Amino acid sequence: MALDPAAPRIVRPRGSGRFVFFCDHSSNYVPLELHDLGLPPTDLARHIAWDIGAAGVTEVLSEIFDAPAIFSNTSRLVIDCNRHLTASDLIPEVSDATLIPGNLNLNDAARAARIERWFHPYHNAVESILVERETRGVQSIVVSVHSMTASLAGNPRPWQIALSSHTDRSLADPVLAALRRTGDVTVGDNQPYDLDPAVDYSVPFHALRRGLPHLQVEFRQDEIAQSTTQRHWAQRFAQALERLED
Ligand SMILES: [Zn+2]
Repeated sequence: MALDPAAPRIVRPRGSGRFVFFCDHSSNYVPLELHDLGLPPTDLARHIAWDIGAAGVTEVLSEIFDAPAIFSNTSRLVIDCNRHLTASDLIPEVSDATLIPGNLNLNDAARAARIERWFHPYHNAVESILVERETRGVQSIVVSVHSMTASLAGNPRPWQIALSSHTDRSLADPVLAALRRTGDVTVGDNQPYDLDPAVDYSVPFHALRRGLPHLQVEFRQDEIAQSTTQRHWAQRFAQALERLED
């Protein structure tokens, strides 16, 4: 049987490291039956469809720490795996001023099918990794990897890397300090985004609910456009994470 290209991908499921990485927006893949959601390839290549560069960074982080990593292999325009099932932008009709024709006026059955086929399998994959590690008595540090655009509404974003946190800053604070130590990187602290359990789904569901230590990171897309720069930034972030493994 051919592998379903939209199925979530897990690398190093039995990795020995403390970290578990996941990437909600790693792919711009649209299942064939959705006919590109009525969009031209140029729109599907944009950030509205995925977090450009984030998968490559996550791959390298998984390699560095011998850590499991889980990738959603479906575009966030099909369904946004970092949104609550009740969110109005779970299946966006408009994204960054672009109308998504294939998402207009979906009926309940079509919405339910998307949730069943492309939301639950990804979160079940993350869940399976975390539960299996719990069963073995291995504690996990959950890291959610995203990328952000270089500007928003014409305003350039100065932050090359940013951490999004909620009330528990026990990991965010030391990692921010480590990232800032050399003084040559502009680091965002809850800028441009904080971690909001009312909006974000993945870290609240998988980490906050379990009381697991966690981080949510955003890399600026222009900094991670190529495999060489993805590796560079993964290594840089890994240096800041290293002491958390002790
Ligand atoms: Zn994202």
